[in-house]
Amino acid sequence: QIQQRAMSSLVCSKALIDGKWVSASSGETFEVKNPANNRVVGSVPNMNAKDAQLAIDAAKKAFYSNEWAGLTAKQRSQLLKNWYHLIEKNTQEIAEIMTAESGKPINESKGEVAYGNSFMEWFAEETRRIYGEIVPSPIQNREIIVMKQPLGVAALITPWNFPLAMITRKAGAALASGCTVVIKPAEDTPLTALAVAKLAQDAGIPDGVVNVVTTKEAAPIGDLFCKSPDIHGISFTGSTEVGKILFRQSADGVKKVSLELGGNAPFIVFDSANLEKAVDGAMASKFRNCGQTCVSANRFFVQEGVYDKFVAGLKQRVESLKIGHGDCADTQIGPLINTMQFNKVSGFVEDARSRNCKIVTGGKPLKDLGDLFYAPTIVTDVAKDAKIYTEEVFGPIVTIIKFKTEEEALKIANESRRGLAGYFFSEDVQQIFRVAKRLEVGMVGVNEGIISAAEAPFGGVKESGIGREGSHHGIDEYTEVKYICLGNL
Ligand code: ADP
Repeated sequence: QIQQRAMSSLVCSKALIDGKWVSASSGETFEVKNPANNRVVGSVPNMNAKDAQLAIDAAKKAFYSNEWAGLTAKQRSQLLKNWYHLIEKNTQEIAEIMTAESGKPINESKGEVAYGNSFMEWFAEETRRIYGEIVPSPIQNREIIVMKQPLGVAALITPWNFPLAMITRKAGAALASGCTVVIKPAEDTPLTALAVAKLAQDAGIPDGVVNVVTTKEAAPIGDLFCKSPDIHGISFTGSTEVGKILFRQSADGVKKVSLELGGNAPFIVFDSANLEKAVDGAMASKFRNCGQTCVSANRFFVQEGVYDKFVAGLKQRVESLKIGHGDCADTQIGPLINTMQFNKVSGFVEDARSRNCKIVTGGKPLKDLGDLFYAPTIVTDVAKDAKIYTEEVFGPIVTIIKFKTEEEALKIANESRRGLAGYFFSEDVQQIFRVAKRLEVGMVGVNEGIISAAEAPFGGVKESGIGREGSHHGIDEYTEVKYICLGNL
């Protein structure tokens, strides 16, 4: 029923290039399926590099014609605000599309529309604050002027776990800066991307400024984006593996890249913690989107004094989670996104079992609900070489390790080559500052399990990425700093 209703208006079956809704040049399409029941939700063009080139050409034309970058900041801001209002007005319908193609519980999908749209609102406002500088010159009769100019055409490659927010967070900043964009959404969730692009068009954003290319074969298009001299910047959110490929491919052209890659977030509970807050934070951080977020807590470290109590409290909450299809209002945990992800998660738990780790609860598929459902699971007594510990799980699995001292917790937390988010719970103010400074991550949640906001810089250190999204720093990814020396005045 939900699918029927959504079908009526915002579900698009064509891609968007130069303001036109188009098929793939090959005529090929691919189906988008609901991971909860494997039903077909829609189908979209399976485009190739040739089609992507047309999108690049359109974005290039729109950039150099100056019909976007040449608008005043206030005019661009107004058009982004129009887009924001249209997304807000269509929250229910976008959320239904998102739930249908990603399996995300409907309340979370609505939450994502609000969260994702907060970036649109924020960048609509930031458009008017992309200031330059006039710097005191060391030489007489000379002025040092610094201005920020748009990069040009930006290619945006986005993942399936936040089908809307990863687009608005990138496109909002890019458009605010005066760039034009080619978006390549994830093959699992192209319908949300197309729905949002349709609203960009309805908002009055000129043709060619926002283009969307859909495909289930991303690699050749990614390669084209990296190598094309007409793409001035690449912004990618997704796996570390693909991020590294794009980084390498961009090296020859010395292209500006912005990468938001995988995390391996530590979640530390100190003896000084308020345990109730810590359990709440753990539930929020771990189980949102079925554990499929790059900032999800991945390794739980609990100090020995509160260990038993924390594990018992968490077990109770995990066992009370409502698992089911995303379109039921009280569902808290939906299916995993696809078979590959399901096999990875269940394989990790089997690997843990074979290494004598303890499965406190869960640890099994829930076939009665559907092929891609997996029980929320807690694993303790974790072997350090267990995959569940060394790799990013991206599923509803809590992996807990006991520690003795703060020093030990920091050492094991920082052992990872990744450093996106980190969380810890403590009521000791000295400890809070000590630990927050020493965690090797881009974002720290202190006594909080969910920390993202449009106003705050999102991004990682080490192999978790390059650059920041959201906040005023997000604009830097899409602008170049130009120095103008005015001499002999
Ligand atoms: P995930 O584990 O989230 O699926 P991926 O990194 O595979 O992470 O996917 C994130 C995005 O990257 C998707 O839009 C996907 O289509 C795209 N992608 C996958 N492989 C490549 C590639 N070789 N080049 C460019 N984009 C790619």
